Amino acid sequence: MQKILITGGAGFIGSHVVRLFVNKYPNIEIVNLDKLTYAGNLANLEDVEDKSNYRFVKGDIVDAAFIQNLFETEQFDGVIHLAAESHVDRSIANPTEFVFTNVIGTVNLLNAAKHIWKDNRKGKRFYHISTDEVYGSLGKEGQFTETTNYDPHSPYSASKASSDHFVRAYNDTFGLPTVISNCSNNYGSFQFPEKLIPLFINNIRNNKPLPVYGKGENVRDWLWVVDHARAIELIFHKGEIGETYNIGGFNEWTNIDLIKVICKKMDEKLGREAGTSEKLITYVKDRAGHDLRYAIDATKIKNELGWEPSLQFEEGIEKTIDWYLSNEEWMNNVTSGEYLKYYEAQYQER
Ligand code: NAD
Repeated sequence: MQKILITGGAGFIGSHVVRLFVNKYPNIEIVNLDKLTYAGNLANLEDVEDKSNYRFVKGDIVDAAFIQNLFETEQFDGVIHLAAESHVDRSIANPTEFVFTNVIGTVNLLNAAKHIWKDNRKGKRFYHISTDEVYGSLGKEGQFTETTNYDPHSPYSASKASSDHFVRAYNDTFGLPTVISNCSNNYGSFQFPEKLIPLFINNIRNNKPLPVYGKGENVRDWLWVVDHARAIELIFHKGEIGETYNIGGFNEWTNIDLIKVICKKMDEKLGREAGTSEKLITYVKDRAGHDLRYAIDATKIKNELGWEPSLQFEEGIEKTIDWYLSNEEWMNNVTSGEYLKYYEAQYQER
């Protein structure tokens, strides 16, 4: 039986990847390694936790000895690496944590894979999940391709860019069978509500202000998380070793237009008078180093692997809002305690 390690499987995207693999591949053993930081939550995986091909291991990828030992004991056939510190605002408040987890943690995993696969690399694969933010910022025109130069601006994107470089270096230098994908912004169920879409749904629900950076003119491409998980599945099985694939939703929005869509839908869902939620919009000081526009050219994965988003944004955002509104307990649990303190401190600074 093949055994795959998925890191960060208790987080937003990781939980969707774990769910897809556990349900679709009963003959693959899935080991989910996660430190369970504020962003990791085993409640995201309640529907698969009893499956016989699934196992959870709590641990920190920064702990090199623990990682080495885990790889030697488990002898994984493949790795899908999603564990990361993932929030740009937190990387501005505490950049070092991002170097530890995103850079050193990734190198620890690369070392361990290199060690256990040194005599037999056949069928083995180390798949690193990354972001479009490594490419920097675009003007009004153009899109990022797989050959766009790296130009990260935030500590988060700098740490992800660094980890991408290490993954490529291990392929070039040691012949480690690696593959990388860089994806645009994801949205969907189980996303920690510090990120724009669930944050605004939750704030509207609680009649709290909607803090919009600058004038809300920054442009992002949005992809439904389940479609990202499908792309990851495809790249893990069929992507070419040493290659990079860009993944995107062909779906660009300025922040303010996206927020207005959410406001409108929330008014409808909550039976509030049209325009009620928009009144909560509060413009705040722009994020330092805020990239203007990200856009992904996802032609390569479309042409070479036949992947395309399955869901139009209109339907995806509808499903997403419905999910958060019908999972109030999940939302209340993750937004209490430490997170509430962090959020209030962030917001007061502006
Ligand atoms: P997330 O913050 O929701 O989840 C990250 C997970 O990693 C959490 O479960 C957390 O507990 C775990 N983790 C953090 N530090 C760890 C450590 N030291 N050891 C072990 N586990 C640790 O993040 P996400 O949004 O699901 O993103 C997953 C990956 O996808 C990240 O690598 C991110 O850079 C990348 N990505 C995210 C997006 C997006 O829109 N969210 C887009 C493109 C790429």
